[in-house]
Amino acid sequence: MLPLPATAGHRRMSTEPNAIESVAVVGAGQMGAGIAQVAARAGLQVVLSDQAESQAAQAVAKLKARLERQESEGKVPPGTAADVVGKIRTGGPLFGVADADLVIEAAPESLELKSALFRSLSALAKPSAILASNTSSLSITRLGRETTRPQLVVGMHFMNPVPVMKLVEVVRGALTAEATLKSVVALADRFGKQSIVSQDRPGFLVNRILIPLLNEACFALEEGVGTKEDIDAGARLGLGHPLGPLELADLIGLDTVLSIAEILHRDFGDPKYRPCAGLRNLVQAGLLGRKTGRGFYVYDQNGKKS
Ligand code: NAD
Repeated sequence: MLPLPATAGHRRMSTEPNAIESVAVVGAGQMGAGIAQVAARAGLQVVLSDQAESQAAQAVAKLKARLERQESEGKVPPGTAADVVGKIRTGGPLFGVADADLVIEAAPESLELKSALFRSLSALAKPSAILASNTSSLSITRLGRETTRPQLVVGMHFMNPVPVMKLVEVVRGALTAEATLKSVVALADRFGKQSIVSQDRPGFLVNRILIPLLNEACFALEEGVGTKEDIDAGARLGLGHPLGPLELADLIGLDTVLSIAEILHRDFGDPKYRPCAGLRNLVQAGLLGRKTGRGFYVYDQNGKKS
């Protein structure tokens, strides 16, 4: 980790971000693929990279098939799939990062992994490039300190599924410059998204509220207060939620839910955030939800509950 720069020195180093016309998305899982899609749909040039090059190529093949289906159903204009895919190039580790105006990191929710990535991004990206993280809960200030440009480091927390959900939670690290914040808010607007700005606290705003709900549903299941179906129906029909908490946890990925719960628990130091043991068991068994075909529920190849 780099030492916290003194404000004056750090101002001298600072480079105002340029207009954003090219985006590099790092990590081609469910979030990275969705972010690449909305960026390309907004007319930007996109590179999508992953630790495994094949994962990035597969992600684009999947989003192409989905957009072609939506074209045939009349949900998107003809030619959308070809247009979007034509703007996305794929590659292996950190491919295309050096040329991008904005890098959006969407790798797994691990401080160690993201810290290493931010050190590499700091060395590779253009000095004026903004480095954003799609982290659900980790400190943006902490990730900024892995770089020589903390003023250009910001949180861009997209919601799942990215092409559908309207919100981007923009997170201001302690050293994030106002110009950086404004650039990403303007970009989210260009993506057709609505932004909220939150301070850099564990879980920010959205997951501070959501994760205790999902974790509590898991405790209720474990204590036998109700079946998983009744817990989910309770939230859908009684609270007007589009998905029940266990269904939503499966959609997010149980590994991601557990990581966020652990971060809330550790960083607030409050036992009320302790992760439910049943959740940990599912993750240890590799049952991560829809992305692995089984979590609280079992899913078919199209991600439908079976
Ligand atoms: P995922 O498991 O679907 O995808 C992660 C991808 O990162 C995988 O393709 C993996 O191969 C790749 N990867 C692993 N190590 C890498 C490295 N060193 N360099 C490049 N790529 C690497 O996870 P996801 O659900 O897409 O989550 C990604 C991030 O987005 C996490 O920080 C998560 O907290 C956040 N997020 C997730 C959701 C959600 O609902 N799943 C919502 C908002 C934010």
